[in-house]
Amino acid sequence: MTFYDLPESLNTDIENYEKLVNNYLSGAIDKNRFKAFRVPMGIYEQRKNDTYMMRIRLPGGNITPRQLANIAEIAGKYTAAPLHITTRQDMQIHSVSAADTVSIYRELQKIGLSTRGGGGNTVRNITGSPDAGYDPDEVFDITPYIQALTSRLIAEPDSWTLPRKFKIAFSGSHRDTGLASVNDLGFIAKMKDGRRGFSVYAAGGMGIKPQIGIKLLDFAGEDQVYNITRAVKNIFDKYGNRKDRHHARLRFLYQDSGDALFREKFSTEYIEVKNKNYAPLLINEIPLQSKNFLEIPLLLGDISMTEAAELASILIPCGERILRTGQNQNIIIYNLPPEKLGQLEQTLQRKGFKTGCKKISDRITACAGASTCRLGLCLSRNLLLSARSSLEQFTDTSGYLDDISIKISGCPNACGQHLIGSIGFFGAAKRHDGKSVPMYHVMIGGNIAEDNSRFGTKIGSIPAKNVPALLSEILQKTADAKKPGENFSSFVSRLGLSVFCDLLKKYETIPDYKQDKSFYFDWLDNREFSISEKLEGECAAGLFDLIDYYIDESKKFIRESLSADTDKRNQLIKNAVASAANSLLITKGLEPKNDQEAVLLFRDHFTGKHLDRSHGKTLDNYLIGGEISPAESENLLAAIEALYKSMDNSLRFPEITDSAAEKINTSGKIFRDFRGVACPMNFVKTKLVLETMKKGDLLEIQLDDGAPAENVPVSVKNEGHKIIDQRKTGGWWKIVIEKNI
Ligand code: SF4
Repeated sequence: MTFYDLPESLNTDIENYEKLVNNYLSGAIDKNRFKAFRVPMGIYEQRKNDTYMMRIRLPGGNITPRQLANIAEIAGKYTAAPLHITTRQDMQIHSVSAADTVSIYRELQKIGLSTRGGGGNTVRNITGSPDAGYDPDEVFDITPYIQALTSRLIAEPDSWTLPRKFKIAFSGSHRDTGLASVNDLGFIAKMKDGRRGFSVYAAGGMGIKPQIGIKLLDFAGEDQVYNITRAVKNIFDKYGNRKDRHHARLRFLYQDSGDALFREKFSTEYIEVKNKNYAPLLINEIPLQSKNFLEIPLLLGDISMTEAAELASILIPCGERILRTGQNQNIIIYNLPPEKLGQLEQTLQRKGFKTGCKKISDRITACAGASTCRLGLCLSRNLLLSARSSLEQFTDTSGYLDDISIKISGCPNACGQHLIGSIGFFGAAKRHDGKSVPMYHVMIGGNIAEDNSRFGTKIGSIPAKNVPALLSEILQKTADAKKPGENFSSFVSRLGLSVFCDLLKKYETIPDYKQDKSFYFDWLDNREFSISEKLEGECAAGLFDLIDYYIDESKKFIRESLSADTDKRNQLIKNAVASAANSLLITKGLEPKNDQEAVLLFRDHFTGKHLDRSHGKTLDNYLIGGEISPAESENLLAAIEALYKSMDNSLRFPEITDSAAEKINTSGKIFRDFRGVACPMNFVKTKLVLETMKKGDLLEIQLDDGAPAENVPVSVKNEGHKIIDQRKTGGWWKIVIEKNI
């Protein structure tokens, strides 16, 4: 038995992939060309160079015990790394060589499995309620729809060439346990007038700029699942943004189009698709024999090859449709009568497997994080391991923690689903005392349910070191104050976010390096934390996240400044300028010690080179404590955003022309580089430039350290001009002069 049909085209895909691997290994093609074909095949390079991860598609998490045994056997020939269950119910094989990925691909194909579409701009693994078939609230079992849709979509060539990844999910009930409301396309089972169907959600998604899906259709008959999917896929294919991968997901198309136009595009496409009379999906429903289940918690979603083989051998005699993975990275055994399940539980416990997920420490999930994921900022798995032991004290005997989920992502991409966790964390970084500190943003109150899904609210950020302590404190507060039967989301609303913000405040402080070095190391890592080493990512998404983060912060400060009183407004505008300046420094490997240095470095590395010098005035005003108008900060941010958009894949920016660089701005500011010009010629040149300027105009000159930096400012002052700013940058000096005569 298999849970989806593999298309014939897979043979050609594998042959092509094999040629590509050989070409790559012989040096005939470079890494980037290899990557372009490899990633849509579901094969990612891990953080360790030339080590690969293969992501096996398991629709709705379904896998037969026999397939599990086969995977353990196949993978075991090539790697000793454990198998890993993802939050999208896939199963990953880690740490294999490029050459071995071809052999593994072929062997997986023989057992009806594939990694095709496990990555890249493709239709990804279709997920579903982990409790499909036995959820007491279930309208009907969504598993056959997931199977049929998977088989159809993976045979369509355009499923592999979309503008960006395309995620689909199904839920069997209003509890939306399949997370349909936060996928690009989601189906929630419904009955209407005795007919089976679905309410349909679209344009949802987590990660950067997350969005809860919009309800596209209140009800669509079950025979419309393919047509709707085809129509949404078509509009994504036609109108999705292929130029900017950071603005490419379906939710951005929705945001850019606006609700009315997006719906109109869908309706037009849907009519066209219906007119094509595609065959409806072939739904082959086999009712479950039993509604009982048993969950096996997996620490970090990992299961060793030996454990997987052992579990499979125990389960093979029990049936085929009895095993699946869940979004919480655990394994679920279902569809077995209670007495059989009871015996099985005892057998598994004897073999050393944990069963049941009553303890909160068994219900924390984390993405791969920076240990293997090339996009990650923080070591989310290590945090989970470290936090887990401090949570052992919280047993669930009174049930007050039953509905709490804790979710951790190593960066804002949200593979750890932090946005929908009752308590969520996502990795970040901050400069303090001249060094980088691993940080986590903290979210509270995420919730998933049909028409009631919401992302957690960000209540602040704390050093990674303090996360376990804060987590314990939040859980203790919950244990003390939550009412019997109250769910966590209502509890948060009743208490108010300020209570949680106050708890967080205790953990915000970062001590100086000398005071406590441990804050400058990520969990279970003996290397000092550094952001610049994260630049080498598969697509450096962690870097982009950091840039997006600073740009968003800058926007937030500008927004807040508009309604603030004068004193506060000036500070907020300065914060906006500093965040804007911070955003692009990482692209040049610069890690400023503080905001002042960030602005200075940004001015030195960007204005006149990549940005019009007119923005230098705003930055100068920041540096000398001058006033900056909201319009100036907005202009600077807009210019930085435009520059960011123009950045190429090598993180380079277009240079502005000499004439633009030399352009005198409206305030009369001009720049001259007199480094390498000896005294007194540097002063003479400065004087000549000043003579061409109007009173009040600014001149910024660059001078060598030593005599030039000592003599020229004194001579300029003697001439009657003002020195506005004078500071050393690297081995040379910047002097800002205001013409005063
Ligand atoms: S959330 Fe970030 S660190 Fe975690 S797996 Fe996704 S991209 Fe990697």
